[in-house]
Amino acid sequence: MTKWVYRFGDGSAEGSAGDRNLLGGKGANLAEMSGLGLPVPPGLTITTDVCKWFYDHEKTYPDALKRQVDDALEWIGGLVSRGFGSADKPLLLSVRSGARASMPGMMDTVLNLGLNDETVNALAADAGDERFAYDSYRRFIQMYGSVVLGLDHEHFEEVLDDEKARLGHEFDTDLTASEWQGLITRYKALVKDELGEDFPQDPHEQLWGAIGAVFSSWMNARAITYRQLHNIPAAWGTAVNVQAMVFGNLGETSATGVAFTRNPSTGEKRLYGEFLVNAQGEDVVAGIRTPQDLTEAARIESGSDKPSLEKLMPETFREFVSICDRLEAHYSDMQDVEFTVERGKLWMLQTRSGKRTAKAALKIAVEMADEGVISSDEAVCRVEPGSLDQLLHPTIDPTARRDVIASGLPASPGAATGEIVFTSEEAVARVKEGRKVILVRVETSPEDIHGMHAAEGILTTRGGMTSHAAVVARGMGTPCVSGAGGLRVDLKNEQLITVSGTLKKGDVITLDGSAGQVIRGTVTMLQPELSGDFGRLMEWADVARRMKVRTNAETPADAKAARSFGAEGIGLCRTEHMFFEGKRIVAMREMILADTEKGRRAALAKLLPMQRSDFVELFDIMAGLPVTIRLLDPPLHEFLPKTDEEIDEVSAAMEVSADLLRERVDALHEFNPMLGHRGCRLAISYPEIAEMQARAIFEAAIQAGGKAGALVVPEIMVPLVGLKEELDFVKQRIDAVAREVMSENGSDFAYLVGTMIELPRAAIRAGAIAESAEFFSFGTNDLTQTTFGISRDDAASFLQVYQQKGIIERDPFVSLDIDGVGELVKLATTNGRGTRADIKLGICGEHGGDPASIHFCEATGLDYVSCSPFRVPIARLAAAQASIRKT
Ligand code: PEP
Ligand code: MG
Repeated sequence: MTKWVYRFGDGSAEGSAGDRNLLGGKGANLAEMSGLGLPVPPGLTITTDVCKWFYDHEKTYPDALKRQVDDALEWIGGLVSRGFGSADKPLLLSVRSGARASMPGMMDTVLNLGLNDETVNALAADAGDERFAYDSYRRFIQMYGSVVLGLDHEHFEEVLDDEKARLGHEFDTDLTASEWQGLITRYKALVKDELGEDFPQDPHEQLWGAIGAVFSSWMNARAITYRQLHNIPAAWGTAVNVQAMVFGNLGETSATGVAFTRNPSTGEKRLYGEFLVNAQGEDVVAGIRTPQDLTEAARIESGSDKPSLEKLMPETFREFVSICDRLEAHYSDMQDVEFTVERGKLWMLQTRSGKRTAKAALKIAVEMADEGVISSDEAVCRVEPGSLDQLLHPTIDPTARRDVIASGLPASPGAATGEIVFTSEEAVARVKEGRKVILVRVETSPEDIHGMHAAEGILTTRGGMTSHAAVVARGMGTPCVSGAGGLRVDLKNEQLITVSGTLKKGDVITLDGSAGQVIRGTVTMLQPELSGDFGRLMEWADVARRMKVRTNAETPADAKAARSFGAEGIGLCRTEHMFFEGKRIVAMREMILADTEKGRRAALAKLLPMQRSDFVELFDIMAGLPVTIRLLDPPLHEFLPKTDEEIDEVSAAMEVSADLLRERVDALHEFNPMLGHRGCRLAISYPEIAEMQARAIFEAAIQAGGKAGALVVPEIMVPLVGLKEELDFVKQRIDAVAREVMSENGSDFAYLVGTMIELPRAAIRAGAIAESAEFFSFGTNDLTQTTFGISRDDAASFLQVYQQKGIIERDPFVSLDIDGVGELVKLATTNGRGTRADIKLGICGEHGGDPASIHFCEATGLDYVSCSPFRVPIARLAAAQASIRKT
């Protein structure tokens, strides 16, 4: 016969912590604690299999269930010398949900179950306290009425308020036993009025009502949303835990509280928590009374005049501390526990791994490894890679009040405060005066680079997670909120219009780039602290990981920052990004807008020395580590001059009329620039561009190689290839330039030519392309764009709706779409290696810094991931976890 019910209590249990899937997290840990001989109120767990049955069979139960529950209740009653339904020695129960993954507050709970007009008197006699008994009964009617009978919680609150007003009482605690009795009569009348039925008096009917309510709450709207947000499958179901009630509200020798075995915000190894005397669990959470500290040390620190548990109940406290130590050692992790003291007797109600900040996670992991409790590999797996963001940037003090005026995408983490400016020129000007600014734009373009560099933070009202603003800001480590659609930029009047009013140029705002929030005014910040724990954990991660971690960088500042974060080379240098500063953009525009080869060569001649010296600097910073330089890949719309001023500037440099230039700009207009004249298509139309870049790279390699003494082997990458013939065409030009430079310098040097795989056709034809390509780098930004046929610049608005409606779980521009885009990556990997066994494989789309995507890269066997500088530590940790979990 199937076992649907598992018992625990009195130092034994039928389940254990390993039965999490069947018993849920709470049930499995209650069983484990009981099995360890810890004081756990006896109880039973109805398995998650029953939940599945319940939904598969029109909300009914398997036949054997009732019998198994009854038998277990009899066993529990025997342990506590009470009987369920007994009028003189009633067994009262708590009924709680408990899924495999913790879903705090999402599902329903019923306490004090078993109380009725008769048993309430027994409880009163037993406790020697009528007031307590009637208060418990009215709480039960209220909880059961709303959770099980579906009555509006407010109805009960209204009756209570009305009754208090009638009696002239301010607080619940003012009501006497007989006044609570009066309220119970009114509550029961309310139930009868609303439902046309009496409040159930039969404890068994109450119990099955509560069990059904818990199972039904698995499908309530809150729980469904929570599961979507946290990737919890609906098929898991919840368990139901039914436990003998213990009371923390039986007078001054009773109490209830919560504790963490270490401090969850700092990680400090010290018991941390609070309790209330003469209270039930919900009172601690409700925050009506100020809780007391557990330890004397904490009480002295907080300056509280209320006694600590240590002082008030020294023996209970000692027992509690020893249980906490035991639990932490047993689970090899920091625990979050709930407890109740009933007339001096300690009961443990829950234990689970405690949630913690990134800082605490690091400290706890490193200290536990030092204590020998866990291995260094386990320590590496204990820290959530994404949470390292919190440690690398200033963040908003979690206790600070926020006046949020709009929300957008959390495009680049960290927080920043500054005065609003609407143009990059204004940003630079104000920063020169020593002020701090937030650059606010509808969207940014390459022309904004100087403003973006100057600004503390960047806010756009349009654009997604891979929009220009987002990518560039992440690269710079500048906080950014993108696509804040609720805001409107009124450029003409230099105003930012919000739903709650208008902000002017110079007004101060704060961005929380980690949460995607725009906040009015300043907020208290916490500065990053790369403590010793961080360094040690990263060392262990580096030992454990197989994949290399490179960075996407083109400026010396980014390259240096990335090196300091541990980057092992550059995986993507976007050369077009090197032409924004100062006058460079003008030469770049000259080149794009020239309509003859001669004109282009003239502009290229201006660009060559700048490129060469940039590359020398990058090679120097990377000191012999691999550097992948991508040939120009400019979606033209990002580079064409727009304003009259810009046109005049370029026309003067090119010595052509502004009108002629305008015509040329019009002629270059593209309806769909992302799929237009970009990538290798540009090098095919104008090979002289690729030739100039190849020359700059080779000459820089000779120069840097000679200087640093380190061998520089540049990797030249051709973008947006779909056909092998495209790559061959460009490669021929590169090879020819290499021969020229070698003979001019009388030197020989090594270099690699490879391609990005960022079009489905390239992935499908990877076997053929690998005949020419010495490496592949997966450009998963474009590969996602072209596989889905969704514009990466326009995706934010509707992909958010897709997420809200549950059509996709995560934005595929943020976390790789493993089923679709991932299949293409796998195909290209297999076929590329089939042709060229030692082909070097990496990823340089934004996904290279996303932990879930990094796991995929490890599983697929890529050689490295490349990501923006501030993501390098995240990638190092995620790559290590992927290696460890694979073995
Ligand atoms: C990509 O497409 O993934 C890529 C890295 O190139 P870019 O973002 O510059 O188009
Ligand atoms: Mg691309």
